[in-house]
Amino acid sequence: MEFANCNFPEKLQSNLELAGYAIPTPVQMQVIPAALKGCNILVRADTGSGKTAAFLLPIIAKCSVVRSCFIKERTKPLAIVMTPTRELCAQIEEQAKVFGKGLPFKTGLVVGGDAMPQQVYRIKQGVELVVGTPGRLVDLLARNPVDLDDVFVLVLDEVDCILERGFRDHVMQVIQALSQPQIMMFSATVPSNIEKFASSLLKVPLIISF
Ligand code: AMP
Repeated sequence: MEFANCNFPEKLQSNLELAGYAIPTPVQMQVIPAALKGCNILVRADTGSGKTAAFLLPIIAKCSVVRSCFIKERTKPLAIVMTPTRELCAQIEEQAKVFGKGLPFKTGLVVGGDAMPQQVYRIKQGVELVVGTPGRLVDLLARNPVDLDDVFVLVLDEVDCILERGFRDHVMQVIQALSQPQIMMFSATVPSNIEKFASSLLKVPLIISF
């Protein structure tokens, strides 16, 4: 697989080149085509493998098609990435901004530490991607200020850490608030509890391991 064969919007392709992404990493070669097809996947991949771009690029490509062709008004989020820490959320959002520059693709952070009303305001202004920590995402649901009906993809990044930190119920609450999205899970390790968790949520997941 090459980035040039992924049918990405032209602007996304040029943003990738500007960022110095010439050749996809092995994780990206496996994950991007499956993600573009809408598969539910469980990926065993470490930090440093290029996993962030592996889930962000298909999300950005799909969101910009949806926004330019189908649902033009920027009201409801289309994608959620959940990850265990706010530092990781900030890094993912930063990378999404680089790739999404010049496209109909905006991002919002929902993490502890910063004022919730400002984060909610930003999301209500219209973002395609929400990146958040489990606790804050559940707070967001509880306050119910944002309609998440249009979310078509949920990424659980570092799902092993999310579960280790006791956020299983948070994950379930978020999933229950969505309308059967595609789910992509990334984990540094896949012990049996993660595999069971993934099978219960993803039905017949495609398991990609490195
Ligand atoms: P990650 O595993 O997502 O944390 O990515 C690790 C680092 O590799 C980040 O600094 C990315 O910007 C970089 N990276 C990921 N994929 C590529 C690629 N295909 N070409 C060049 N750099 C990449």
